[in-house]
Amino acid sequence: MRFFRRRGPSALELLRDAAWTCASCETEHRGMFDIGASAPDHWGEIEVREPNSALRLDGDFLSEDFCVIGGENFFVRCVFEIPVHGMSEKFGYGIWSTLSRQNFERYVDRFDDGAYAGEGPWFGWFSNRLSEFGETLNQACWVYPQLDRQRPTIGLDDPEHELSLAQEQGITPERVLEIYAANGHGPRPSVAAE
Ligand SMILES: [Zn+2]
Repeated sequence: MRFFRRRGPSALELLRDAAWTCASCETEHRGMFDIGASAPDHWGEIEVREPNSALRLDGDFLSEDFCVIGGENFFVRCVFEIPVHGMSEKFGYGIWSTLSRQNFERYVDRFDDGAYAGEGPWFGWFSNRLSEFGETLNQACWVYPQLDRQRPTIGLDDPEHELSLAQEQGITPERVLEIYAANGHGPRPSVAAE
């Protein structure tokens, strides 16, 4: 009689559609999911987020999509998309960028109907540190407003930056799991051991 050790799913299988119980957040994740920062790093500790509709341009404000600091720094939430080898969908990293006040107001004005045809890209400063990809905070970047109420996509201005190379060349499924782990999500060891 022979015993076979049951092989756990590979990183690619996990991201494709396996259900896996997270060792850290105790949620059951299914396949690949996006992760993101709830605020620009400049915001400091996260308190209660207000609704988008309560936006104020003076003082400090934070909602799901907009942030204002000191009435003079304006931020929007974007998605940094990274292709993953073997996957048809991209991995999405929710991060924030600054915009000029003028572009911020344009973005806010059309937020509800998403009518940004012919707009952008808009210059900004990348406003989160993604420790898995070198220094990203305060890097020059471009924000691409999207139609139909999709979050704007974003790319760094420097094509040689590690994060730009990841966006250009894609990353492995194993790397996605490393990013999850660095952000507090990881499959239980019994599942990941392969
Ligand atoms: Zn989790």
